[in-house]
Amino acid sequence: MSVVTHMVEIRGLHKSFGPVEVLKGIDLSVERGQVICIIGPSGSGKSTLLRCVNLLEEPTAGTIVVDGVELTHPDVDINAARRRLGMVFQQFNLFSHLKVLENLTIAQRRVLKRSKAEAERIARENLAKVGLEGKADSYPSQLSGGQQQRVAIARALSMDPSLMLFDEPTSALDPELVGDVLTVMRQLAQEGMTMLVVTHEMAFARDVADHVVFMDGGVIVEQGPPDQVIGDPRHERTQRFLRRVL
Ligand code: ADP
Ligand code: MG
Repeated sequence: MSVVTHMVEIRGLHKSFGPVEVLKGIDLSVERGQVICIIGPSGSGKSTLLRCVNLLEEPTAGTIVVDGVELTHPDVDINAARRRLGMVFQQFNLFSHLKVLENLTIAQRRVLKRSKAEAERIARENLAKVGLEGKADSYPSQLSGGQQQRVAIARALSMDPSLMLFDEPTSALDPELVGDVLTVMRQLAQEGMTMLVVTHEMAFARDVADHVVFMDGGVIVEQGPPDQVIGDPRHERTQRFLRRVL
């Protein structure tokens, strides 16, 4: 018998806010190195799902295992578990009073206890990776939104995550700045990073995702390869959503 260990294994995940059930039984597996794109209308529970995986929300029921650690186990060390996850939000959440380099080193030093020299070396490597090696001494306010989002990605990568979560990383950007961020994400995918990406960028999902998940009303309506889910959706709800966004 072979045991398949997925990077992420979500079983029977439910999340309610008071009387309102927002996630109604989600089952999802992500293999190592896979890119999963989650699509669906506003309010369908996409962000809540990512926030449960990142332990920013406590699931009402169900289990979530990331990289062999059951996050939903009562005895889990939440901070240790969260350290393996990189999260990139729609809003960049950079520290505005810190230079770019310091934004990338602060958690490395405080959480991973890296030396200043080591943290700066890793920060500069990741800045180069996102095409911003020249911006180490800038403040976030001196950068465009697309550059700030790439700094946020470099900051997450500097913590050596085993999984990257993206929640609509390009939705707050001017259209002409979206491409540079998607290029960085595409490159990460090619390097084998495991990624869970909530996005409205259907061309990106179609090109880059190994697997697309369509959510509506707190359930996964349909999932499969992008050519199937985006190219030839089976369910009426998926077809209706895609007609609106494509
Ligand atoms: P999506 O990201 O797909 O737009 P969300 O996960 O943000 O959807 O939200 C799904 C539903 O859950 C929405 O109806 C939203 O109002 C509700 N919701 C999200 N967060 C909370 C919260 N902290 N308290 C109450 N309701 C919430
Ligand atoms: Mg959302």
